[in-house]
Amino acid sequence: MDVVKWKDFDGNLTEFLVSSVWESIRPRGSNVFNWYSVVWFSTCIPKHAFVLWLLMGEKLKTQDKLRHWEICPGSNLVCPLCELVPDSHNHLFFTCSFSNQVWMLVRNHMDFPIHCDGWRDFTFLLTPFAARNIARIIVIKLLLAATVYCLWKERNARFFKRRKRSCNQVFDVIYHTVRLKIMSITWKNSPQVLRLKSDWKIS
Ligand SMILES: [Zn+2]
Repeated sequence: MDVVKWKDFDGNLTEFLVSSVWESIRPRGSNVFNWYSVVWFSTCIPKHAFVLWLLMGEKLKTQDKLRHWEICPGSNLVCPLCELVPDSHNHLFFTCSFSNQVWMLVRNHMDFPIHCDGWRDFTFLLTPFAARNIARIIVIKLLLAATVYCLWKERNARFFKRRKRSCNQVFDVIYHTVRLKIMSITWKNSPQVLRLKSDWKIS
């Protein structure tokens, strides 16, 4: 008796099922690797996580990309934060002098080393611990995403609205946003959580 078979994505003959067909023809993005837990977790702030996710895939529209597309040919675009060199993913979020000062302020509240060469090194160091659902790691991830989001927002405000804030003002927004988030999470009481609340002046 004739039977319908399906040749799957890897060329194997399998039973014809809608799920097998979909698995073979569905669009496939790039591999997420193991940094998924750095970006997405149950208590993340979605808009922060979204910008961090774009950063991970180098999908933000930084000036190095705009130049590649020949938008504004001949214009001498520079990083709106330091006004020294064109911005790129690594420059904007780590090597820029303005971003560096913001990170130095954030580091005082992050129990994790940030003295690395760029955001890839930082996420590489954080990834092995990222899936741990413990207060210290959650706060590090919240701070990372909030800092990336606020630096990107500050860059765009300067670029498109001609509105500038200082490093301390940007840090204040990061600090208060993360503090509010910490207050909204239902924590299991533990010495670590008590220390966290004390560090963030939460009663
Ligand atoms: Zn810069």
